[in-house]
Amino acid sequence: MTTERYVLAIDNGTTSTRAIVFDHDGMKRGTGQLETTQIFPKSGWVEHDPLEIWANTQTVITEAVSQAGMESSAIVAVGITNQRETAVVWNTQTGRPVYNAIVWQDTRSQYIVDDVATVHGSEVSDVSRYSSVTGLPLATYFSASKIAWILEHVPGARTSAERGELAFGTIDSWLVWNLTGGINGGVHITDVTNASRTYLMNLETLQWEEELLEAFSIPRAMLPEIKSSSEIYGHCSEILPGVPVSGILGDQQAATFGQAAFTAGEAKNTYGTGNFLIFNTGEEIIHSRNGLLTTVAYKLGTQPAHYALEGSIAVTGSLIQWLRDNLGIISSAAEVETLALSVEDNGGAYFVPAFSGLFAPHWRPDARGVIVGLTRFVNKGHIARAALEAVAFQTQEVLQATNSDTGVPLSEVRVDGGMIANETLMQFQANILGVPVIRPVVAETTALGAAYAAGLAVGFWSSTDELRTLWKEEKRWLPQFTQEERESRLRVWNKAVQRSLNWID
Ligand code: ADP
Repeated sequence: MTTERYVLAIDNGTTSTRAIVFDHDGMKRGTGQLETTQIFPKSGWVEHDPLEIWANTQTVITEAVSQAGMESSAIVAVGITNQRETAVVWNTQTGRPVYNAIVWQDTRSQYIVDDVATVHGSEVSDVSRYSSVTGLPLATYFSASKIAWILEHVPGARTSAERGELAFGTIDSWLVWNLTGGINGGVHITDVTNASRTYLMNLETLQWEEELLEAFSIPRAMLPEIKSSSEIYGHCSEILPGVPVSGILGDQQAATFGQAAFTAGEAKNTYGTGNFLIFNTGEEIIHSRNGLLTTVAYKLGTQPAHYALEGSIAVTGSLIQWLRDNLGIISSAAEVETLALSVEDNGGAYFVPAFSGLFAPHWRPDARGVIVGLTRFVNKGHIARAALEAVAFQTQEVLQATNSDTGVPLSEVRVDGGMIANETLMQFQANILGVPVIRPVVAETTALGAAYAAGLAVGFWSSTDELRTLWKEEKRWLPQFTQEERESRLRVWNKAVQRSLNWID
């Protein structure tokens, strides 16, 4: 009989839910994964079914444990990482959501955001104060306006919420509540990193901000308690009974943690549904002058919070899904590389995928997607290449913004996420950034980060110093463009971005 112990991470991304069992060396021992149904009821609306997410979570946990070939009693802790901002409101008596989860990319609540800006924040100084309290621009991206939309559109929701019958949570809260017993005493909590994405938390106090709850008319009673990212929140009830749930980090913060970017000056870039560059600023809250967000990186138990600057790009991996599902020019995400390699270059085509407006560093909700530079010569191979290049160009924009905000240019970028399997993209990324791009051995850094946070809380790992020794490089891509080539490509990209702006009045 083995005495080896493991940590299980649940990773609810936008595309899928995964469970991964990690051993003490941070190596994967078993995985389960199921895709999440993407629901698009109207243009600009994106939903997930929270009950499907919970059902999938239970299935993938069972799969991961069985693939690892061990007894579930060998698991010492469960960590959770999740798509951030996505809002679920559920009835704590029935355990049923009152509406589908409204996903972070959803823009239906723009009118609420406009209303908050013009009515409640009639003084421009109010909006800028909100932004300095939260570290975020006022945008549909964050949870607040999504919660407000649900309360306004689901009959009876506001009254029930005021009576304390409804709970709001990002997906971490929804999963912890269900894991720890649901209607039979589930705990209603979230961690600081997820809370920092709601537009309702004060970055300094790490508590809900009354003025913002009022601005969005959100009853205090429906909000979860804000906890650190690493402590025992409760114990699993039916699945993995008795195992502590002891780590939560929003997906991007989890990836940063999994990349061992624990201290100020360290950074990572994740290529998933969207792209997210996170730059750790230590215990200092730095407000961006270049369109980046300020967010909580992590907080371990009672230790002080660490903060970060973040460049969020809405559409990167989802552009590849769009090529697959909406255009049908590829039949799997991986095929985009073969198609891109069927041509030598982009043939003059540039693709700005501003499907939900442009996020960092532009923050332009009025932008919409454009493909420019088309001639009779351009074929689907060039479109595939332009799509991959768009991912790299957008990343270059946020790296540039980070460098300007911190005054310390990043000398290399650690990468993770589903798209880093694409070597053509990785090489182009290094070319356009002008710095090396580095892929670690364990590419699932998001799940790994959640496992680390959970394992630290129960003493499975002793410290971040120990975790740092587990990070290993797998491959690096070096820049191959000359400075002139790089600048000329960036100039054309900027022209394309200009064409995407001012589309929506
Ligand atoms: P998330 O955590 O946001 O769900 P993942 O990190 O799992 O995302 O990455 C999935 C995304 O990566 C999908 O949007 C998919 O289109 C994209 N993707 C996966 N494999 C490739 C590939 N080989 N080339 C380009 N994109 C890919």
